[in-house]
Amino acid sequence: MIRLLATLALAMTTFATAARDPHSHANLDQVRMTALHLDLAVDFEAKRLAGFADLDLEWLDPDARELVLDTRDLDVTRVEGRGDDGAWQALRFALGARDPMLGQPLRIRASGQPARVRVHYATDPTASGLQWLGPRQTMSGRHPFLFSQSQAIHARSWVPLQDSPAVRFPYRARITAPEALRVLMSAENPDGPVAGAWHFRMPQPIPSYLLAIAVGELDAREIGPRVTVYAEPQRLDAAAAEFADTERMIEVAESLYGPYRWGRYDLLVLPPSFPYGGMENPRLSFITPTVIAGDRSLVSLIAHELAHSWSGNLVTNASWADFWLNEGFTTYVENRIVEAVYGTDAAIMQQQVGQAELLDEMRNLAPYLQSLVPQKQGLDPDATFSSVPYDKGAWLLRTLEQRVGREVFDPFLRGWFDGHAFESVDTATFVNHLRGHLLVEHPEAITEAELAEWLTKPGIPAIAVAARSERLAAVDEARRRFLAGEVEAGAMKDEPWNTQEWLHFLNGLPEDVRRERLAALDAAYRLTDATNSEIAFRWYMAGIRAGYEPVFAPLERFLVTVGRRKFVKPLFEALWAVPERREFATRVYAEARPRYHPVTQAAVDAIVGRDAG
Ligand SMILES: [Zn+2]
Repeated sequence: MIRLLATLALAMTTFATAARDPHSHANLDQVRMTALHLDLAVDFEAKRLAGFADLDLEWLDPDARELVLDTRDLDVTRVEGRGDDGAWQALRFALGARDPMLGQPLRIRASGQPARVRVHYATDPTASGLQWLGPRQTMSGRHPFLFSQSQAIHARSWVPLQDSPAVRFPYRARITAPEALRVLMSAENPDGPVAGAWHFRMPQPIPSYLLAIAVGELDAREIGPRVTVYAEPQRLDAAAAEFADTERMIEVAESLYGPYRWGRYDLLVLPPSFPYGGMENPRLSFITPTVIAGDRSLVSLIAHELAHSWSGNLVTNASWADFWLNEGFTTYVENRIVEAVYGTDAAIMQQQVGQAELLDEMRNLAPYLQSLVPQKQGLDPDATFSSVPYDKGAWLLRTLEQRVGREVFDPFLRGWFDGHAFESVDTATFVNHLRGHLLVEHPEAITEAELAEWLTKPGIPAIAVAARSERLAAVDEARRRFLAGEVEAGAMKDEPWNTQEWLHFLNGLPEDVRRERLAALDAAYRLTDATNSEIAFRWYMAGIRAGYEPVFAPLERFLVTVGRRKFVKPLFEALWAVPERREFATRVYAEARPRYHPVTQAAVDAIVGRDAG
């Protein structure tokens, strides 16, 4: 009892949950949406979605008369409410002041407590959660393309709703779009339109950040009993071949963490301007084409998005301060899938590369962003994105696993997913679950002080065991001998290296490596011609720092084609750090910017031109 009280006190003080989400205007303590219905027309000419959203409501406070929704740049024209008698009546509404991060609250006043509210609206052409591509930005060049990216707080730019991951709801949608284009959503996807409209149904309750839509010239191919790949027609063969292991990955994940609960697991390969590697939209992961390397060497990204079907989509972070509950767990599960499908060597190499890159990134990260729970409230999730919730979170779980063994840890993790399925949870909930389950019989898993250090302190705790791969140790030795001039570039290794070995080699090149050394590597391995995006990215970074001229032409092509923020942002940062490359950066960005997603534009806007003039 005493222990329990102390436990709760610590939970309340250290990881207190706010009554309202700091990233939402919604009055969640008074009213909650319980279902969503969308009826929208896709207008490529005007770059607009227009129509209405119906929100079913559960009123929690009997005295409440106001519903506050999140919006960003929405043109709201009319709001109606439907009472228990089924009659619609107009409701008064007002849009509040625009907050640069949060958007505008939509305040709807009712005389009673309507069970359903209908908001008529249109999106803005600059909606932060939508990217409208012209035909020239697609492979065929024939049709425009639209896709959404709602995470973290961008759903409000295309749907007026309670935009907080603490709120879950099933949804339906009726979408009209130009003929010849396919419409897809994070839902049960129909084969085609009925009477001119596409109808969608998502029966499981999801948080708003998992609302997703894509419209374009897309073909489909079934690659497994539960898996269809959607892609632009010219990319479909390559995508289907690259992702052929997906069904096997689902089976592995199910054997570890219980049944896949979402029906189908389909993949949508987007045009290269997609700002992320992948987005775990339920039933339909959105995937960047930059992982199609031709040899399945980057498909751990599919394992990652699939893992979100348990960590994130099933058990969801209740606020963006708890993001590590989504990404740390997913990074851990991803690695377990990689181990089962591609072997222990591959899994350990991936861990080691991830940990090394995390430590490197932390050298330039504010201390309050280095803890699993950020030590400041209400930060902009886009501006503070880092690998901390991913790789540090996974590192904590791996530490627990190593201390108690997999025969104990695997059932514990499965119990976490089963016990909180379709719930939104915060860090205190996890801490209490840990104390109430794993620590009861296995107090050796972690001490309270160690746990607090992981969750609230910067850096990596000294107790953390770093992954160590013998194959990567051999890469270190090869790099050392090459840099010391003991061997020629072409003779530094006997066997071909896989992607992880190349990434480790390139990550370990010193910042001041001379361009002659790069030229020698290039002559032996043709790295400037690399089509593997992860290898090419690291090679370009080394080339920018060393002033190695041959990389700049392919780098320019890369930057005006690929909009993945993880690559684009550091490349522009590296260019901007070299004064004589600023002109190149400015010129290339002027061409690339219109092709980038708003999320990537915002990241690069903060770099290019920063201290110009
Ligand atoms: Zn993720």
